[in-house]
Amino acid sequence: MKPPAFQYLRPTSLSEAVDMLASAGEDAKVLAGGQSLVPMLNFRLLKPTALIDINRISELDFIHEDEAGLRIGALTRHRVTQTSPIIAKRFPVLTEAMQHVAHLAIRNRGTIGGSVSHADPAAELPLLMTLLNAKIKLTSKSGTRELSPSEFFLGALTTALEEGEILTEIELPYLPDNTCWGFEEFAQRSGDFAIVGAAVTLTINAGNCDECRIAVLGSETPIRIPDAERMLVGPSPSAEVVTAAAELASEAAEWNSDLHATAEFRKQLVRTLVARALKSALDRQRSGH
Ligand SMILES: Cc1cc2nc3c(=O)[nH]c(=O)nc-3n(C[C@H](O)[C@H](O)[C@H](O)COP(=O)(O)OP(=O)(O)OC[C@H]3O[C@@H](n4cnc5c(N)ncnc54)[C@H](O)[C@@H]3O)c2cc1C
Repeated sequence: MKPPAFQYLRPTSLSEAVDMLASAGEDAKVLAGGQSLVPMLNFRLLKPTALIDINRISELDFIHEDEAGLRIGALTRHRVTQTSPIIAKRFPVLTEAMQHVAHLAIRNRGTIGGSVSHADPAAELPLLMTLLNAKIKLTSKSGTRELSPSEFFLGALTTALEEGEILTEIELPYLPDNTCWGFEEFAQRSGDFAIVGAAVTLTINAGNCDECRIAVLGSETPIRIPDAERMLVGPSPSAEVVTAAAELASEAAEWNSDLHATAEFRKQLVRTLVARALKSALDRQRSGH
């Protein structure tokens, strides 16, 4: 099918884009990589009156190492995120997760801002934003604001983005020294959206786990599992503690049930993948990688 008719606008600066978005009204949409939006237009699931194409706004395309964290511009393509040496050094868990995002052709166009704004419950980037305590920065004509992932992701394909707002950048606060990580995903085929994904970090100093983060994808939004995280904090986590934390994680949410997998299957996957992710983080810590 072909998309419905729309006005096509192509700003070259952020200020021009927010002006256009404000005057175009509530039925306007931002067009980034188009990898999710264009199929939705073609299926006529959306009928925006105007598309604001942000692809020429070079000020949204950057990766900067600041003192407190890494800033990634909304227009950064998945392929750039996947292959960035800075990201590989600072957030290897993000580099690993990017290997699972779609296929090369889609990664060449898709953007971090587009994936986070689209908030597909099966997408890897919202999961990683949740794990890494991302600061999600939004700009509109009336100013800028910064939201945490739990404030931003409100439901499947639903975010706190308001009319006239553009997601401009993501800031990832650096992880403490001595943080190891694990990432596990189950998808039907390589490059498919995840059925369940689990991402973890463990900060371990002198055999003591000071901080643990566990984020899971498989419900309406990616979630953190604070009760399971607390179980890991303390002296060198044992295999029994890992198993108990994974069990707790599997009980932590109402998992999605759809044509790809039942809620019960997802629950079992959460248990298995959280345990595997924690084990692989601990293995990395022991082997010094
Ligand atoms: C076959 C296929 C397989 C895929 N597999 C995966 C996968 O395994 N994992 C995965 O994570 N993704 C997958 N994707 C989706 C892909 O990652 C998309 O790139 C991503 O979801 C959207 O990014 P985009 O830049 O293309 O956004 P677009 O399609 O341009 O936009 C998506 C939505 O976000 C809004 N938007 C975009 N940018 C902004 C912004 N800066 N501010 C405000 N709103 C904005 C748009 O208005 C639209 O509503 C797949 C896509 C396809 C077609």
